[in-house]
Amino acid sequence: MATNINPKTIFTGDNLPIMRGINSKSVDLIYLDPPFNSNTNYAAPIGSKAAGAEFKDTWTLDDIDNAWLDLIETKYPVLNRVIHAAMTNSDKSYLIYMAARLLEMHRILKDTGSIYLHCDATMSHYLKLVMDSIFGKDMFRNEIVWQRSSGRAKGSQHKSKTLGRDTDSIFHYSKSNDFLHNSVNIPLTESEISLKFPKTDENGRRYNTNTPIFCQPSMGSRPNLCYEYKGVVNPHPSGWRVKKEKLIEMDKAGYIIWREGKRPLRKAYADEYEGKPVGSLWTDISIAAGKERTGYPTQKPLALLHRIIKASSNEGYVVLDPFCGCATTLVAAGRLQRDWIGIDISAKAAELVVERIKADQGLFQKIVARTDIPKRTDLGDIPRYNAPENKTRLYGEQSGNCNGCGTHFQQQHLEVDHIIAENVGGTDHIENLQLLCSNCNRIKGDRGQEYLLSRLNKD
Ligand SMILES: [Zn+2]
Repeated sequence: MATNINPKTIFTGDNLPIMRGINSKSVDLIYLDPPFNSNTNYAAPIGSKAAGAEFKDTWTLDDIDNAWLDLIETKYPVLNRVIHAAMTNSDKSYLIYMAARLLEMHRILKDTGSIYLHCDATMSHYLKLVMDSIFGKDMFRNEIVWQRSSGRAKGSQHKSKTLGRDTDSIFHYSKSNDFLHNSVNIPLTESEISLKFPKTDENGRRYNTNTPIFCQPSMGSRPNLCYEYKGVVNPHPSGWRVKKEKLIEMDKAGYIIWREGKRPLRKAYADEYEGKPVGSLWTDISIAAGKERTGYPTQKPLALLHRIIKASSNEGYVVLDPFCGCATTLVAAGRLQRDWIGIDISAKAAELVVERIKADQGLFQKIVARTDIPKRTDLGDIPRYNAPENKTRLYGEQSGNCNGCGTHFQQQHLEVDHIIAENVGGTDHIENLQLLCSNCNRIKGDRGQEYLLSRLNKD
């Protein structure tokens, strides 16, 4: 599905209604570094580039729109159970907040797409269950453990009663089994090079001779690889590792060491080694420092995002960061020729995004800054919400009863209502519609279903 958002768009606002306005299956990669429920209110230091940017990271049930809980209770029973396993109201509120948003992320992610959720030990155990119930346990790909700093753990200057906490977790889930993956290699360190490539040739190049030149006898008979070259043959019918033309080529280029009466050796050079594949423990990326720092609280390093974006997208793909903060994901995506969409609640973040991208990638970057809620274009030619066919269908489904007070009415006395209001991204799709009597419709207004039901219970 094509995206309905221009590439390089930064939205200011709550990411939930904005994501509701993004077409289904239109985003290739989502990285999110949401608030962690760490009981801290973050603010950037005055005087830094990000001054004025802040977000709260403490949660109470007052922060929760009852419509989110209502949606989860009625449509996602497993997710609902997971949320209610949370120990405190604060944890529960946080999970409801996150679940409502992760459901939208799941909808807008392409089938070949991936999502990376960055969190720390405060809530990671709950978030993994939430991710399992939204994306499916089978779609869990990895838990990346990122060591934020080596040697110096975050903590107070007072003597600590615990070991330092110096790692974050990044959960990788895919939308389906058909997800894109590019392998990522990193160079060896000096000491790893001297261990893996212990020999040095006359030009000072390090190499090893670990790669066999003959196939193992256990590999069976390979007549097309059995040949004689410079008087040498493999005594076993498994033959050479490479075809004769390739061996001659390698020999001419100096990759073969010939030894009297012994099998020749094949050289592998350190400077031609493609690097070691990256695993799930990342200790080689340090926190954002120096010029890269904007002063934004919880800023993540560019190298971290480079690695994630390279592993799970290609050039021209769409990367979304729904908590984009100081734009690290967007800067990294732009450098790697990906399209990007950023969302942040703080207007200061949007300013910082424009400033930082232009400083990094040129003043003439065409960046779209929006504060409105986009409209989906992938719902096809569906009728307007109050079209007669919607009304007739809903009347049948609700057996002629108002979905609020439950009273039976004739069809002409019921009104079509958006369950999730249009001004918070609710669509005209039949799934988002219900019939209410005029009294219930007036009480509910633009608020959630839960509000209506609680008001009816009081009266
Ligand atoms: Zn009613």
